[in-house]
Amino acid sequence: MSETNTYSIRVEPTKQSRLSQVDFNNLKFGQIMSDHMLVANYDNGTWTDVSIVPYGELSISPSMSSLHYGQSIFEGIKGYKFADGTVSIFRPDKNLERFNKSAKRLQMPEVPEEIFLGGLKELLQVDQTWVPSVDGTSLYIRPFMFATEAALGVHPSASYKFIIITCPVGAYYSKPISLKVETHYTRAAEGGVGFSKNAGNYALSLYPTQLANDEGYDQIMWTDAAEHKYIEEAGTANLIFRIGDTIITPHGDTILHGVTRRTIMELAEKWGFKAEQRKVSVQELIDGIKDGSVTEAFAAGTAATITHISKIGFEGQDYELPAVEGREFSNKVLDYLNQLRYGKIEDPFGWNF
Ligand code: PMP
Repeated sequence: MSETNTYSIRVEPTKQSRLSQVDFNNLKFGQIMSDHMLVANYDNGTWTDVSIVPYGELSISPSMSSLHYGQSIFEGIKGYKFADGTVSIFRPDKNLERFNKSAKRLQMPEVPEEIFLGGLKELLQVDQTWVPSVDGTSLYIRPFMFATEAALGVHPSASYKFIIITCPVGAYYSKPISLKVETHYTRAAEGGVGFSKNAGNYALSLYPTQLANDEGYDQIMWTDAAEHKYIEEAGTANLIFRIGDTIITPHGDTILHGVTRRTIMELAEKWGFKAEQRKVSVQELIDGIKDGSVTEAFAAGTAATITHISKIGFEGQDYELPAVEGREFSNKVLDYLNQLRYGKIEDPFGWNF
């Protein structure tokens, strides 16, 4: 990639690595950042100053427009270390695609592949010792962009910053979760910004999620804004169900199109299941749980890959799902992706970058 770079990347290595202070056996998600970050500025219609610099604080103006009007988007990607030391990132081209869709919807500039993927590649070269190698661990990669114009008034910012930070994360064994079907609050409406990964989508989820937590549920199952009848997604993951021999996931522009969801649906087809992206009503799910045709339900996302769902609460009634051990499809997916991403098996799809 660097042969064709029109953006030269300046590298300013840290004088004082923090690597030796990190306890890799006790990593809390998102707490410790790697030594370096990639920073690029957008000004006067072009990207400039692409550089890899020591991770550190930024200076911002109190009138910086992203703080007031919310032009702020991000991505979440994971990198893995193979037994031979190779560092591999899982399908980051899909994250770039989604990032630029988010950018377009929020009237922000697109980030060129050379900066997003090319910059990431260089950053990982500089910080390769930060990618943990213990089984199950990974490097979490957070690209983000925000408006930096120092001026009040609602209008598209004239300037932006694109940054990639990374942090080593420990093995993620997710316990099965309970979900509350949300029938009052709304995450996204038709024509809105549900498909984009913008900061506001997460801010709006916090209060309803706290209410669900207070009732004893782990997370919310969002439903459509118009009728609260159709299932959308959960917290920071997409939802996938197995009904009979069909693997089904809700679709539409009110949900974030997850890379994990897409990967799992592609695997389902490859493995001979029927794979459908369509509307799923809460009633269909509840009826299926009652009559035994819903045998698997899980949340799919970069953080945990698959999180089994144990219980769904709807209108004051709880519906229990079958035992996790018997869930053939989701357990197979989890095992397969774990092996693929750590380079333990062939990668027939070219998903490892
Ligand atoms: N939905 C939401 C709202 C999310 O934040 C995420 C995590 N990025 C997902 C779904 C799953 O997406 P992915 O598989 O790309 O991580």
